[in-house]
Amino acid sequence: MTKEHIYLDYNATAPLLPEAHAAMVGALSVDANPSSVHAPGRAARRIVEDARRDVADLAGGKAEHVVFTSGATEAATTLLTPHWTMGRAPVRMSRLYVAATDHPCLLSGGRFEKAEMTVLPVDGNGVIDLEALEKVLAAHDRTQGLPLVAVHAANNESGVLQPVEHIAGMVRAAGGVLVVDAVQMAGRLPLALDSGKIGDFVILSAHKIGAPKGVGAFVGRSDLMMPAPLVVGGGQEKGHRAGTENVAGVAGFGAAARIALAGLDDMKDVTALRDRFEATVKDHAPDAVLVGGAAARLPNTLFFAAPGMKAETLQMAFDLEGIALSAGSACSSGKVGPSHVLAAMGLDADAGAIRVSIGRATTENELNAFAETWERIVARRAERRRSAA
Ligand code: PLP
Repeated sequence: MTKEHIYLDYNATAPLLPEAHAAMVGALSVDANPSSVHAPGRAARRIVEDARRDVADLAGGKAEHVVFTSGATEAATTLLTPHWTMGRAPVRMSRLYVAATDHPCLLSGGRFEKAEMTVLPVDGNGVIDLEALEKVLAAHDRTQGLPLVAVHAANNESGVLQPVEHIAGMVRAAGGVLVVDAVQMAGRLPLALDSGKIGDFVILSAHKIGAPKGVGAFVGRSDLMMPAPLVVGGGQEKGHRAGTENVAGVAGFGAAARIALAGLDDMKDVTALRDRFEATVKDHAPDAVLVGGAAARLPNTLFFAAPGMKAETLQMAFDLEGIALSAGSACSSGKVGPSHVLAAMGLDADAGAIRVSIGRATTENELNAFAETWERIVARRAERRRSAA
């Protein structure tokens, strides 16, 4: 992203908050290792533990149940394993249930073999098929181990929200463990992990809330039952994730978590602005289709398909005019491929859809610039059609 670009791609990553930047710079001047027992070491430890409390508050959980990782993907890979322990006793998760529109960090199955996984379908609005979940949980063979269910709370492409509270009840009744990818929900809607309404573990990513990339966490409701660690070594993070903590990154994460929690009330303004982006799209292209339009959605996300316009081409047109948005998710290494989210919803994945995702810093002027650009793009397309006719 250049400074001149208008940035409407918060679901890919949110711009670094000045408070997170300042916290990181402050942490970088503390030289010691947070595991050292001397005074400088204790200062570094304090930074990590303060951030742990802030991240726990954002999740609605307890500081002692936060495990810092290198990001949500590592957190998911840690949790998605057949091998767990309760105290010293081994516990086996014999099957992993994920949703077709989950982020690839869940869909890849972590440390499960493909044969040990079931992918649940979603409906035309991208909502997980609860009857299908009910069926597979009823059929789960508990003599082999427990069911592990891993679903996203809010979709990164469409913003569609999943009925997580309902799912949590179903998984609890089946005696299973529920992991919820709350990466896109955090800081946009309240999380209340300790209420039991969003499962047993949540996964968070720092860079989606205005902290640096390469930091994340998982937070449990308790630490009674824990996954076998993915990264082993020096026993940091109570043995759940070895390796010296990324003190500066964690400090940025804590600062951003504090701001995200305090800013939850501003989300109604973000929703109002997002709705005006939506109205603008419809003003100039009444045939545009809102993806997941009939489902509950995140306050900041607008995902639409414009019939006859390929999303990839549209995204490039916006980019040329200085507006950064995306055609679906930010895929790895810049590759653009058909969206598995659209495909799972039974929509035209090849044509794709445009995602506008905004944040608290998005302005009226940016909406106006988007509206003018959209109008120009639609007019050019109409002109091309006229001259081709
Ligand atoms: N889950 C969701 C819903 C996401 O949107 C992302 C990032 O795109 C991730 C997980 C992965 O997060 P990270 O980049 O921290 O590994």
